[in-house]
Amino acid sequence: MKKQRIETTCVQGGYRPGNGEPRQIPVYQSTTFKYSTSEDMGKLFDLEASGYFYTRLQNPTNDYVAQKICELEGGTAAMLTSSGQAASFYSIFNIASCGDHIVSSSTIYGGTFNLFSVTMKRMGIEFTFVSPDCSDEELEAAFKPNTKAVFGETIANPALTVLDIERFANAAHKHGVPLIIDNTFATPVNCRPFEWGADIVTHSTTKYMDGHGAAVGGCIVDSGKFDWTAHADKFPGLCTPDESYHGVTYVERFGLEGAFITKATAQLMRDFGSIQSPQNAFLLNMGLESLHVRMKRHCENAQAVAEFLVNDPRVAWVTYPSLKGDKYYDLAQKYLPNGSCGVVSFGVKGGRKAAEAFMKKLKIAAIETHVADARTCCLHPASATHRQMTDSELIAAGVGPDLIRFSCGIENSEDLIEDIKQALDKIEVI
Ligand SMILES: *Cc1c(COP(=O)(O)O)cnc(C)c1O
Repeated sequence: MKKQRIETTCVQGGYRPGNGEPRQIPVYQSTTFKYSTSEDMGKLFDLEASGYFYTRLQNPTNDYVAQKICELEGGTAAMLTSSGQAASFYSIFNIASCGDHIVSSSTIYGGTFNLFSVTMKRMGIEFTFVSPDCSDEELEAAFKPNTKAVFGETIANPALTVLDIERFANAAHKHGVPLIIDNTFATPVNCRPFEWGADIVTHSTTKYMDGHGAAVGGCIVDSGKFDWTAHADKFPGLCTPDESYHGVTYVERFGLEGAFITKATAQLMRDFGSIQSPQNAFLLNMGLESLHVRMKRHCENAQAVAEFLVNDPRVAWVTYPSLKGDKYYDLAQKYLPNGSCGVVSFGVKGGRKAAEAFMKKLKIAAIETHVADARTCCLHPASATHRQMTDSELIAAGVGPDLIRFSCGIENSEDLIEDIKQALDKIEVI
């Protein structure tokens, strides 16, 4: 059979029921699984047999949904996590420990920035942040002998920078380390980072994948392409025996295609237990079934909103990677030719005060910390998520004091534009 197209995988990937089995994914609402003998169970604990024993580590419902996302990204193995934050943490902590170093793009999600620069720093992992627009020399200079990975976002939340994935992958590989890409905003419908050289992909499935503001979740997908054994000295956790599993060496037992995800499940899920609930995995799968339909509409609406905003004299600036003239337009055309995402950032003339006044007048777009939802929502980071920062710190983070993050839903674009128009009309008279 010909390779299935992405739309079909969104609907039918992952779970493939046999004769007489449920059409919809069964929710295995069970903490535990039954075995006939202690020997059977012992084999699971030695990673000699695959199977389920306790939902803190693995659950069949989750694995069906992880498998769908794996197929969408074109990977070899995947796992669901309880949140996007857990996915980002695991993706790095699986291959880096105290004394190691990571190179990361500086324009990343604020929660990820905190995780890296505060919490993981306390664990003894050091991060060097580089601009996604840095020169090749600056990127090169960021690496150290103890660097274990490079991290970036396809489309950054909320800065909307587009990462030159190929360039960052080449730099990572030159130094014998993988490139980890957070593909949350683009989704595999619009970009598959593995096709451009990325090695590991993470997601906050809370965003477009769920798409309905119903379930917090995350996912990690491995391309199976990174050769850990070629740099075995850098990745002892994958290439030397794990004494907590009777001396299993992950790359030997599970191959390049399975080592990374098996290790993350066997060690990190076992010890931290940040697993997605099977009920949430079921809801996530419902979202995935329409991801390709929704992404198209999110992008059409965002394009229409961005084009309206850029032509309105009351708007100071607009950032949208698929908008002609945008700083990232060329990179977006390369990596996201079919559309980027539904999020548009802009500022209204009058700065911070005008932003707050404008948002108060919106009727359809609701003020929420959420993004990438079927319902249009917006946020003024300077007075919410980034409120502890001074104006100069905000500008350095790429989130100016006047920035409005406008996440276009899948409503009618004319209604969204009329909503923006009437709110702009009202701030004019203030
Ligand atoms: C929201 C988000 C995260 C964190 O995900 P949660 O599911 O909220 O934990 C990570 N990366 C990006 C790009 C995000 O937008």
